[in-house]
Amino acid sequence: MIENYLGFPDGTSGADLADRARQQAVKFGAELVMMSEGVKAHFDNDHIHVRLADGESLTAKSNICATGVEYRRLGVADEARYLGRGLFYGAGAAEAPYCSNEHVFVVGAGNSAGQAVMHFANYASRVTMLVRGSQLSATLSQYLVERIEARDNVDVIYDTEVSALHGASAHQSPVLQGLTLCNRKDGSEHRQSASRLFVCIGGEPNTDWAMDTSIVRDASNYLVTGPDLLTHGQPPAGWPLKRQPFYLETSVPGSFAAGDVRHGSIKRVASAVGEGAMAVSFVHRYLQEHH
Ligand SMILES: Cc1cc2nc3c(=O)[nH]c(=O)nc-3n(C[C@H](O)[C@H](O)[C@H](O)COP(=O)(O)OP(=O)(O)OC[C@H]3O[C@@H](n4cnc5c(N)ncnc54)[C@H](O)[C@@H]3O)c2cc1C
Repeated sequence: MIENYLGFPDGTSGADLADRARQQAVKFGAELVMMSEGVKAHFDNDHIHVRLADGESLTAKSNICATGVEYRRLGVADEARYLGRGLFYGAGAAEAPYCSNEHVFVVGAGNSAGQAVMHFANYASRVTMLVRGSQLSATLSQYLVERIEARDNVDVIYDTEVSALHGASAHQSPVLQGLTLCNRKDGSEHRQSASRLFVCIGGEPNTDWAMDTSIVRDASNYLVTGPDLLTHGQPPAGWPLKRQPFYLETSVPGSFAAGDVRHGSIKRVASAVGEGAMAVSFVHRYLQEHH
C-alpha cells in the first residue's frame, strides 16, 4: 500500500499504481516488454547489450536502470498471507499515525530499524524491538542507542527471532494477531499477541546484471551515480569523457540509474518517479553529445 504519494489521498496499491503507469506509458507510445527479466549486460562500442532470461537480447545506445530493491523477508510460514494485514516490510513511516495506543513490534537492529522504533514511539503506546544479536551498539549509531534506551515506551528483546506468525482462521480475512518468538541462545519459544509487525532487516538492490561490467557499485551493491562517483573532484579511473558524470549517470557514460536501486536514494515513490523523469532528460543530453 502506497499511502503518501501525491494525488492519492486514500492511498493506492503498488500493483494498481504500476498498472496505471503502464497504461499511460503505452498511451504515449512506449513499447513495453512484459514478463521479461534482464540477467546480464555488457558495454561494447558505446552500446549496452542486455541478455534476457528467455535468451533474447536487447541493444541500446543509452539505458536507465530502475530495478529497485528486493526487501529481505523473515523466512517464516504465512508471510505473504499477513503482508499489509499487520505485517509490513520497511520502516513504515506511513503506517505510524495509525498505530496510536497499539503495541508495535519492529524486527531489526540497523539504523533504519532504530529510526523506525523512535518514530513509532511517538504514536504507539509501546514499541518492542526484536534483535537477533546480544547488543545494539554493534549495528546501530550511538545516538540512536541512547535515544532508544532513554525512551520509556520502548523495550528491546535481544537474542530473539520471529519463528511463526499467527492470525485469524482461514475462513475469516487474514489479519495478524500474534507471533512466536524464539530465543536463539536456548531455543525456547513463547507466543506473544501482536497486531503490527514491521520488518526492517534491509534489502538487496537488483544489480546482479551489472556484476561483470565496469559500473561502480557501493559496498551494498547499489549503483553509484553522479557526484557520488567523484573522489577529490575526480571521476573514477576509466571514465572516458572530459565532462563529469551527469547527476544520475553511472560510471559508464550513457548508463543511468533512477529510484531505489541508486546509491543514496530516498526510497519513496515520488523520488523514484522524479528521478526517472530527470534520467530521461539526461539520456537526451547524452544522445545529443553522441549522435
Ligand atoms: C511495503 C512497502 C510500502 C511502501 N510504502 C510506501 C509509501 O507509502 N510511500 C512511498 O512513497 N513509498 C513507499 N514504499 C517505497 C516505494 O515502493 C519505492 O520507493 C518505489 O517503488 C521505488 O520505485 P523503483 O521504480 O525505484 O523500484 P520498484 O518499484 O521496486 O520497481 C522495480 C521494478 O523492476 C523490476 N525488476 C527488478 N529486477 C529486474 C530485472 N533484472 N529485469 C527486469 N525487471 C526487473 C521489479 O520487478 C520491479 O517491477 C514502500 C515500499 C514497500 C516495500
